[in-house]
Amino acid sequence: MSGTHTDATISRQVRRLETLLEERGIVVGAALDEMLDAFLAGASPVNGARVVARAWTDPAYKERLLADGTAAVTELGYSAGGVQPQRLRVVENTEDAHNVVVCTLCSCYPVRLLGPSPSWYKSEAYRSRVVREPRAVLAEFGLRLPDSTDVTVWDSSAETRYLVLPRRPADTAGLTEDELAARVTRNGLIGTAAL
Ligand code: FE
Repeated sequence: MSGTHTDATISRQVRRLETLLEERGIVVGAALDEMLDAFLAGASPVNGARVVARAWTDPAYKERLLADGTAAVTELGYSAGGVQPQRLRVVENTEDAHNVVVCTLCSCYPVRLLGPSPSWYKSEAYRSRVVREPRAVLAEFGLRLPDSTDVTVWDSSAETRYLVLPRRPADTAGLTEDELAARVTRNGLIGTAAL
């Protein structure tokens, strides 16, 4: 950015552009936030995958990640935040507990860690159904969980975004952190897939 522009000036200009685009019906606020986030941050599921690979290989990091996701992703150079400050909460899948993320109100999503959200995440069907019948929805994604596994659905908001820490696949002993990261999928980070 040019040194002649302060951050405050840029923020005002972005906000004004946003308002104009919304007034003309070109783009709605949530979608625009997501586009701006992606543009500003090199947003990609590769980022979330690297966070997970670190947690799998460094127990102390995993502990910090689960205690305070916002701070822990900053350690790896990522930001949880969007245009507005956001809190990141990381929820861990285990043998007994599975987590899945939704935004029932709109489409809140940790864009910087996952890239732009898939269209199904924003769909009315996913947003309404995953809360009511998570097991049925997960089965449609090809993920069939045993009855003994508790399923928790996390509802995102403008203030709090969620990232799932998937279970590390059994056949990955001895893989490097980069190799582990390559095994992590976007849907695994949302909780609609296991790895
Ligand atoms: Fe939302």
